[in-house]
Amino acid sequence: MRLPRTYPIYAGNYKASLATLEEYFKGFQNLQLVGRYGAFKYNNQDHSLLMGILAAENVITPGKHNLWNVNSDSEYVEEAEAETPTTVAAVSRKSRRRQAIATLRQFGGYLLTGGSATVVDVLVFSLLTQAGIWYVYALGISYFLGLSTNFWLSRRFVFGIYWRNWLMQYGVFATVALNSLLANLGLLQLLINELGWSPTPARLVSAACVALISFTGHKLYSFSSGDRISSWES
Ligand SMILES: Cc1cc2nc3c(=O)[nH]c(=O)nc-3n(C[C@H](O)[C@H](O)[C@H](O)COP(=O)(O)OP(=O)(O)OC[C@H]3O[C@@H](n4cnc5c(N)ncnc54)[C@H](O)[C@@H]3O)c2cc1C
Repeated sequence: MRLPRTYPIYAGNYKASLATLEEYFKGFQNLQLVGRYGAFKYNNQDHSLLMGILAAENVITPGKHNLWNVNSDSEYVEEAEAETPTTVAAVSRKSRRRQAIATLRQFGGYLLTGGSATVVDVLVFSLLTQAGIWYVYALGISYFLGLSTNFWLSRRFVFGIYWRNWLMQYGVFATVALNSLLANLGLLQLLINELGWSPTPARLVSAACVALISFTGHKLYSFSSGDRISSWES
């Protein structure tokens, strides 16, 4: 039976759902689930092929391998993974480290897209004001274009999360960006007026804090995976 939307997407609490299925399928002695779609694993070809080979060995020696251990997150290490607390802790340390590196990379990408959007914003503002347009209108237009550039670039190159309703996603993105702008203003006010900092270091500190706040906001809300339709294959 051909089904739509079978692409394995690690969204929401998928691990719990997968565990339920795994438990259910354990009840079938004559069924083996392999591959990307069979096992709902974000496999590469090597993992899928390995699953096939191990499944064949399971036919010869039933129960020899636990195919659920083969996946793209951790290499297949069945013997070593005999689930001692030390190996489990090492695997989870490794995966935490990988996750931290991936987040750092993502943050770097986000800074680049934010930087590009700022260039667009400033360039458009400069062109419009030179063309004689009132600077308030120019600011409105350039801010909108910068925001849209940031949305498009971040979605395409940094987060890769596409909601079914792009307008809704754009709305959430704009709301997070607006909140970040307000946070920026509040922080500047605090540093300059209350703590007596000079504007330039205050602006630098607020920019760094707000970059972190908006990145987190976008990761949690604008590019959350709840309603996404696809991700880019790396
Ligand atoms: C864009 C993209 C780029 C990728 N790049 C790489 C890469 O560079 N390196 C790498 O290692 N991996 C890459 N992968 C992943 C790799 O393609 C998969 O991991 C691998 O193909 C999964 O193998 P599989 O046997 O599990 O599934 P598939 O190769 O998808 O095989 C499933 C087969 O079942 C068939 N099928 C489905 N339903 C039915 C049905 N009802 N009746 C009959 N047949 C059915 C499908 O037509 C398909 O031929 C990439 C994947 C994508 C999408």
